[in-house]
Amino acid sequence: MAQHQDDEDTPETRLARLILALRSQGVSDPAVLNAIETTPRPLFTQDLFKDRAFEDSALPIACGQTISQPFIVGLMTQALQVDKRDRVLEIGTGSGYQTTILSKLSRLVYTVERYRTLMREAEARFKSLGLTNVITRFGDGGAGWPEQAPFDKIMVTAAAPGEPKALLDQLKPNGVLVAPIGKGPVQTLKRYTGDGAGGFTVEAMTDVRFVPLLDGVAKEL
Ligand code: SAH
Repeated sequence: MAQHQDDEDTPETRLARLILALRSQGVSDPAVLNAIETTPRPLFTQDLFKDRAFEDSALPIACGQTISQPFIVGLMTQALQVDKRDRVLEIGTGSGYQTTILSKLSRLVYTVERYRTLMREAEARFKSLGLTNVITRFGDGGAGWPEQAPFDKIMVTAAAPGEPKALLDQLKPNGVLVAPIGKGPVQTLKRYTGDGAGGFTVEAMTDVRFVPLLDGVAKEL
């Protein structure tokens, strides 16, 4: 019966269905779709939610955080227009799922997380996947990573209350930054594209729900 089909499907079928769903919602860049298809999302989810890893939904991870919805990961990655030569800064490592996808599309990914536990778990996943172009840092990503700036691309995966000035300052003149912007439970996904002369074009893409970008590092593990 149709309603039982999901449970009986193989992981391959579920993944194929997820990719089709992303395509139908406008994620069309073949490189982005390929990076998603070759990144095993169950590796990034908690045991309790592994059977839901190929659903197009956000899921809880440790420290009260979430792994983003695959469609949003696809949309944000596509919007960032990552090039194989790019050095990318990601704020909010979380599970490391988005980091892994970025690592497949770029030269180097610098990723910052304010929870030590999440950082360590993500590092173990990068190791198990054999990723050699991800550099992690435990810290407050709101300040970016000045020592490694400027970056070709910056992705923020936690909601910034307003324009992320410190991060925009660390972007190359023609760089792109994608971030959820807003203080409430629903934010606007925005893309800032450098005009080469210190200014930016700002595009509002869609409504999203991200956990907030918080100040400082977490006192808890
Ligand atoms: N990209 C992640 C989504 C993580 S959710 C994934 O694919 O799983 C957002 C993450 O941002 C959380 O892990 C949260 O702890 C982190 N975060 C929030 N504020 C931060 C800050 N100021 N600096 C670094 N990380 C931050």
